[in-house]
Amino acid sequence: MQKYNVSQLVKGVIGTSKEVVVDGQPDCEGLELAKTTGKLKLTKTISSILVKGHIETKVVLECARCLKRFEYDMKFDVEDEFYISNALKYSNLEQMGYYTDEVEEEDHDEDDTLVVDEHMQVDLDELIRQYVLMNIPMKPLCDPNCKGTV
Ligand SMILES: [Zn+2]
Repeated sequence: MQKYNVSQLVKGVIGTSKEVVVDGQPDCEGLELAKTTGKLKLTKTISSILVKGHIETKVVLECARCLKRFEYDMKFDVEDEFYISNALKYSNLEQMGYYTDEVEEEDHDEDDTLVVDEHMQVDLDELIRQYVLMNIPMKPLCDPNCKGTV
């Protein structure tokens, strides 16, 4: 999977959308994910690429009681945005022949903010990583009846 090129969307009019089929093994730092499937719809908005869809995956977790590693089924709906930086927006406008004299950079919190990178790509693995992290239970159990190590 990795990165997905959205240049057609960035250049397109607001509302332009594209469906991406997710089927593979995301490369997520610090997480062990099995095959991940789903569908994401990418839609151009004024300042971002809106991503909506559903993802199913399995993440390898350690049982909080017996410390056994097991695959935890995970399903979640995704609704997030990759911001299109003004620099990207304006370079695009300039390419189309518009003159822009003011480029004002908006402030977004760096770390967790998803952005369309300078190659007009979105990192879907990073998006999935954030959702998986949000959905990991506080105390994962290999089985609700796990008795732990006795
Ligand atoms: Zn267990």
